[in-house]
Amino acid sequence: DDQERQEVWANIKDALFNDHIDQFRAEFLELHPYDQARIFEGRDVDVRMQIYTYLSPEEVADFMEHIDYDEVEPFFTEMDPRFAAQVFAEMSADDAVDIFNELDKAKVASFLTIMDGEAAEEIKDLLHYEEKTAGSIMTTEFVVVKAGMTIKEAMVHLRTEAPDAETIYYTYVINEDKRLVGVISLRDLIISEEEWMISDVMNERVVSVSVGEDQEEVARMVRDYDFLALPVVDFQDHLLGIITVDDIMDVMEEEASDDYSKLAAISDVDSPDDNAFA
Ligand code: ATP
Ligand code: MG
Repeated sequence: DDQERQEVWANIKDALFNDHIDQFRAEFLELHPYDQARIFEGRDVDVRMQIYTYLSPEEVADFMEHIDYDEVEPFFTEMDPRFAAQVFAEMSADDAVDIFNELDKAKVASFLTIMDGEAAEEIKDLLHYEEKTAGSIMTTEFVVVKAGMTIKEAMVHLRTEAPDAETIYYTYVINEDKRLVGVISLRDLIISEEEWMISDVMNERVVSVSVGEDQEEVARMVRDYDFLALPVVDFQDHLLGIITVDDIMDVMEEEASDDYSKLAAISDVDSPDDNAFA
């Protein structure tokens, strides 16, 4: 809570003031990124600059994902542009895109040119999707296997993909045409015999959403089906991305506050105070 954060901050402040990098890193990185973000947010620019130099781009990315995306612009502007680009590259692509949508076009272009190629391509692809569609909230860091693999081969593959995947709980199965043909949960993988085929174990009735689907509809589906993630496909059933339940919670919050603003706007018209100035 807040009190605890204050105490941690008192320790960290000393470490920063005395240039004790190791002590700062030990105390700060022990916190959950959510709490790191709360501490970072409350600091002045000179302290923030110091924090950037003490942390890696990956460590900064971890807590930036826990700051409202319409509030991070000043942080990415004050950072060294190369460092900022690296932070974006380390972020989950869908979160980076949320922030890019808040920045001006020239700034986005300059970040994309200094960013490492693969990360830039991923973000560029996602930037094309229209706001508030499935495509705009999905991420491309998912795990796929081929139907013809054995469980053992799939597990070996999953292990190499796991560090960068948004979730490892569902592995999606594609055929030779790269079409989505199945899904298998981590539980199913673990309880299967190594020599079984993926095609024997996978669930073939895959629930998916199309890339242009409205985000509100996607949220409804995640709620109704209770999956931790939903696959996103194009009109030919090619797997393009996944939407995880944590992204859906952000959507629900956004939609709820949109609805609230609309309500507030309506009731404003009728309020006696407003009428007094009419
Ligand atoms: P269970 O709840 O049956 O014990 P689980 O805990 O392993 O399974 P859940 O997240 O509850 O996993 O998912 C239930 C089942 O739904 C899993 O077998 C999983 O393969 C399957 N599944 C996951 N995503 C989809 C999807 N998009 N469409 C259809 N089935 C899916
Ligand atoms: Mg379950």
